[in-house]
Amino acid sequence: MTSPQLKSLLLDTRLPRLEVRMLLEHVLAKPRAWLLAHDTDPLAPEVAAAYEALALRRVAGEPMAYLLGRREFMGHAFRVTPDVLIPRPDTEVLVETALECVAGVAGPAVLDLGTGSGAIAISIALARRDARVMASDVSAAALAVAAGNAWDLAASVRFVEGSWYEAVPAGEGFDLIVSNPPYVASDDPHLDQGDLRFEPRGALTDGAGGLEDLARIVQGASGHLKPGGALWMEHGWDQAQAVRDLLSAAGFEDVHSRQDLAGIERISGG
Ligand code: GLN
Repeated sequence: MTSPQLKSLLLDTRLPRLEVRMLLEHVLAKPRAWLLAHDTDPLAPEVAAAYEALALRRVAGEPMAYLLGRREFMGHAFRVTPDVLIPRPDTEVLVETALECVAGVAGPAVLDLGTGSGAIAISIALARRDARVMASDVSAAALAVAAGNAWDLAASVRFVEGSWYEAVPAGEGFDLIVSNPPYVASDDPHLDQGDLRFEPRGALTDGAGGLEDLARIVQGASGHLKPGGALWMEHGWDQAQAVRDLLSAAGFEDVHSRQDLAGIERISGG
């Protein structure tokens, strides 16, 4: 069998063109301009086979981020594996809000609960080199990914293993707590659709109605916030009022929500 030309793979109609190019860039370790300039090159059989293996996984629905092993967030390239949730563009509003919250604080202490890939904690640490950032996760596998990202991106973050506040030293007061916890209800049919099928269940759903982990985070916050400290959390499209109520009931003041890129109230805090 003769080797196929790169051109014939670029015309793979099983996948969107952009995804075909991204997978080819990945297996060839070459930028897009190179692909287009070399499209009549014969492909080494192992490259063609590597492409085919990834294309088949993509056709079966596996997220691009897991196939490529990386995803951009806040302008940084994060490594991702199926042990961590794939960072979403909508979560950038949580980071932007966090940075606004601590804009006037010198050397702010920030805690990220359920850090996953570390995208939130690391983005904050990179934007505020003077910050003391701690991040927790219950999953040792997720923390290994997060620590790798902090290393690759030269960010200073202290990672601790435990559920929510469990591994956060008592008496450590934070100016800001942030979290993108699991908030999808366990009976939500979306868990069995699209990318979510491949992501860690424990990062998506609380195993109940969706508000349990959000409530735990709110209830534990007062023991870990400095006076005047803030808490901001991401939540589902229909949870803003419930999360504001949780915050108000716990004594937070100036409680409000902010919209994501689609205009949906996606984060709440106070
Ligand atoms: N935003 C994600 C989704 O529904 C859920 C993330 C989460 O549970 N924290 O696709």
